[in-house]
Amino acid sequence: MNKKISKTDAEKIINEFFKNIQNKTPKEIKKVKKLAMSKNIALKEKRKLFCKKCLTPYKNPKIRIKNKLKSITCNNCNYISRWKMKN
Ligand SMILES: [Zn+2]
Repeated sequence: MNKKISKTDAEKIINEFFKNIQNKTPKEIKKVKKLAMSKNIALKEKRKLFCKKCLTPYKNPKIRIKNKLKSITCNNCNYISRWKMKN
């Protein structure tokens, strides 16, 4: 990945990437995460779109909500991500 791009360009690339997240591979997600990190861009809500363990985009995840915690089970590696829900 080109390291000479500006932060604005990187943000554009990342936003475009996540519009089509379901068709991405873990390898591509890893690249984009690296890009975001190198440019100090927070992925925020976008982080919830893929498994943080195997980096597979969630396609049809099992979602459970309990005690204001949302848990998503990855259908690739079965890793469970938990997110605090906003009120
Ligand atoms: Zn996974």
